[in-house]
Amino acid sequence: MAYEIGVQLPRPIEEQVTAALRERIPALATYSNEELPRQVDAADVLGALGYLRRIPLLHSIQGLVDETLPALFDRDALRKEKTVPLHRTDEVLTVAIANPYSSFKLIYEKRFPQLHLACILTYASQIDAILTDQTRIQQITQDEIRQLNLEEIEEEIKDFDLNAPSDDGVVRNLQSIVQEGITRRASDIHLLTEKDRFHFTYRIEGDLIERRDLDVKIINRTDNLLVQLMGFETMDKNRGLPLSGRFTALIGNRRIAIRAERLPSYRGFHYTLRILDKSYVSPKLGQGSLALHPATMKYIRQALNLPDGMILMSGPTGSGKSTTLVAMIKELFRTRYNIIAIENPVEEEIAMVTHVNMEDVRHGPQYIKSGMRSDPDILLVGEIRDRETAELGIEAALTGHQVLSTIHTTWPAQIIIRLMQLGVPKFYVAETLKAACGQRLAKKLCRHCKEAQRLDTEMVDQLGLPDVFDGHEIFKAGPGCSRCDHLGYAGRQAIIEVLPITDEVTELIMQRELTSIEIANFIYDQYKVPSLRELAFDLLYNGVIDLPSAADSVRLGLISARDKKWQPTSLL
Ligand SMILES: [Zn+2]
Repeated sequence: MAYEIGVQLPRPIEEQVTAALRERIPALATYSNEELPRQVDAADVLGALGYLRRIPLLHSIQGLVDETLPALFDRDALRKEKTVPLHRTDEVLTVAIANPYSSFKLIYEKRFPQLHLACILTYASQIDAILTDQTRIQQITQDEIRQLNLEEIEEEIKDFDLNAPSDDGVVRNLQSIVQEGITRRASDIHLLTEKDRFHFTYRIEGDLIERRDLDVKIINRTDNLLVQLMGFETMDKNRGLPLSGRFTALIGNRRIAIRAERLPSYRGFHYTLRILDKSYVSPKLGQGSLALHPATMKYIRQALNLPDGMILMSGPTGSGKSTTLVAMIKELFRTRYNIIAIENPVEEEIAMVTHVNMEDVRHGPQYIKSGMRSDPDILLVGEIRDRETAELGIEAALTGHQVLSTIHTTWPAQIIIRLMQLGVPKFYVAETLKAACGQRLAKKLCRHCKEAQRLDTEMVDQLGLPDVFDGHEIFKAGPGCSRCDHLGYAGRQAIIEVLPITDEVTELIMQRELTSIEIANFIYDQYKVPSLRELAFDLLYNGVIDLPSAADSVRLGLISARDKKWQPTSLL
């Protein structure tokens, strides 16, 4: 247990800080004392420290330092005790400190024994900045910013205001389409032209729903409007090349990012507007749609706690792999971490993470090399798709970095085989891979209108379900109701399997030529982690998902003798 505030606190004080944090932040109740430091930032810790010692806290002391003062003291001593004098009157010397338990008082009492000492608490980094930079270059001032010509910058912020209907019918039409998409929580809006038709549709809960026709007369003006919103000139669309851009929709006082893709088609265009509204779909690991089986959660956490190594995630497109990686990064996040994410495209921006939008996936290795030279603790690579990327990932993992990435395989155990197929020597795979994960996303049934369905022996046999489903009541989608937007489904549930690559597994991989099934079975037996299929059985058995969802996500059928004997655990 150690708090990352740039100063070393005595052990008993750390314990007091922990207690104070628990008192001040009720959400920390679920974390153990070991986990707790990872869940708080320096501001929380300093707040607790200030609270314990009744010292006021200042997040920044820039501009508060009387510049004649530090010269009166031994600079090395100030640096060592992490303190800096701020201000002096006839009676009081005000000083900033980063560690109330250091010997800072001696420095000041020696020089000004008659003055009363007043302390304020601040970050060690604030004090360091003042003591190291004597000839600091002034940052741009507000006045200077005001005088700058900001027009260019303003043009780049492309807001599409959905709060008031436009007088222009074409604009209002698009406003209404985007607004409906956002309020119905669509993930994408498609607008496309076909022969004599212009229509749009939404993707909601993974399915494209009803198509609606628009008047063909507004095709050209709608096209121009979208091209402009994406930040292009209208003539750019005539070049016959795909256009990618972004704009933000303003709804109430919320800004929602929209990633727009214009694919020129034989009949005109196909727009895909991806709504990046993460206000409700950015779950935390272990919660909501990312609720995980306890064993899965345990091994993911253990792998994340390692200082280096690779964590790879497999799963089909749209299975929410990147959402899970983002949740993992948030789990990992500590201020000292330098996190670099190289993606194509950037999905969700996380504060304090350097996001790199990899324009061209063929340049992946160049981006990764540059990322590795940027002193990262954690490297998130969008996808390992070739030998070069795989080798760079391995190299990063071997040189003390934690690498998170996705890879294309059907089942998680195949990740090991896939890396070897890409040409990575077995030894490196075994040494660096720490967790092989697989993910699916299953549509959840609407709790309010789902309908019971009893399975008999014949169905269980034909469908390839475990024996326990014989005579068991599962659920299927109902007719839909107002709560589920008449879809019969509401929300989605991530199904995540993790295969921890422990020393035993590493040894097994090294010593024998195993198939992915043998590796998986060994891990299932040894560590009691549930497979994707078992997790889907569990959701189906408990009425959370229906048969089509289960079949879609984990390919039911051709059931193994092992799965046939599956028993419900009801842990999710
Ligand atoms: Zn419903």
